[in-house]
Amino acid sequence: MKKLIILGSTGSIGVSTLEVVAACKNRFRVLGLTGNSNLDLLERQIQRFHPEVVVVGNAVDAARLQLKYRRKLQVLYGPAGLITAATWPGADMLVSSLVGALGLEPTLAAIGKGYDIALANKEVLVMAGTIVMAKARQHKVRILPVDSEHSAIWQCLKNEPAKNVSRLILTASGGPFWRLSRQELAKVDVARTLAHPTWNMGRKVTIDSATLLNKGFEVIEAHHLFGIELSKIQIVIHPESIVHSMVEFTDGSVIAQLAIPDMKLPIQYALCHPDRSANELPKLDLPKIGKLTFSKPDFTRFPCLRYAYQAAETGSTMPAVMSAADEIAVQSFLDNKIGFSQISKVIAKVLKKHEVTAKPGLKDILSSTEWARREARKYIARIG
Ligand code: MG
Repeated sequence: MKKLIILGSTGSIGVSTLEVVAACKNRFRVLGLTGNSNLDLLERQIQRFHPEVVVVGNAVDAARLQLKYRRKLQVLYGPAGLITAATWPGADMLVSSLVGALGLEPTLAAIGKGYDIALANKEVLVMAGTIVMAKARQHKVRILPVDSEHSAIWQCLKNEPAKNVSRLILTASGGPFWRLSRQELAKVDVARTLAHPTWNMGRKVTIDSATLLNKGFEVIEAHHLFGIELSKIQIVIHPESIVHSMVEFTDGSVIAQLAIPDMKLPIQYALCHPDRSANELPKLDLPKIGKLTFSKPDFTRFPCLRYAYQAAETGSTMPAVMSAADEIAVQSFLDNKIGFSQISKVIAKVLKKHEVTAKPGLKDILSSTEWARREARKYIARIG
């Protein structure tokens, strides 16, 4: 039995991961779970999966849960608790599905412990891809992608050396606003942004999908995961979300991975790899779908895409700064402090002001993200 620690178990990916675990009977045992504020759900997960450790957001909730479960369960809280849980003894794999910067240090700690990583938390590679991949190589740890696009590329790349690859083609649904003009984009509100047509995701990822910054993050993620240079990673808009990504090889052959969009599929592939087990997920019916469409991304209406490529080209602390500025901008949009089109403006402003550090270590990255959050807040206070 593979023993798992799931960071962010009450989030969208965490919930799907536990559904996969439940469906694959006797293959997995859950050692650790973490949740922030949805304690009802976390308790239902505790009672069903009997972990050894759980982490909650604060000391009060931790004390209450500890009293209730006594010696059956170790209850921890906060960032230090996340690191203890991520390195809990006896595990085989960490499912890293927190959102944002919070997941970086626990993921690095689990790599240090030699645990394989099923990675859903894309900011881990966006912020510190070079450090994370180097540490994974050092500890002989596999970083297995959970993101649907990267899972697709991983499957398409099987047994092919990097020298045979001419392009990675990441598909993007385009998000809910793909067809809107710049004027219309400026007027969209929170409720409309959260109603995503194809993928059911958490709020942060849903907003990032609407600005297309999520796709920019995925370009950076692919660059680190597969060691392919940025100029060979392209985006194509594919609103049906059936082709999850493609790889073009030097001879012109393109291999794609297709499936009905459901995160449980890439999660299962990462958890069960190299096995493929039968499942109850809906299967592809191409005649019913009829046609698949593709178009070019628009870097003008969706400037976040451009910023992501630029930040990635600059490298160093720039992608981490972009990710931190985005976290603040997205939260401010959700709090109705700024408009949708101002998310990209906040990011642009902070990126422009940032001076990168040569060869940054983890400390440099963390302090540059602190700086970026302060700058983003200052700017939002002025324009909001
Ligand atoms: Mg994705």
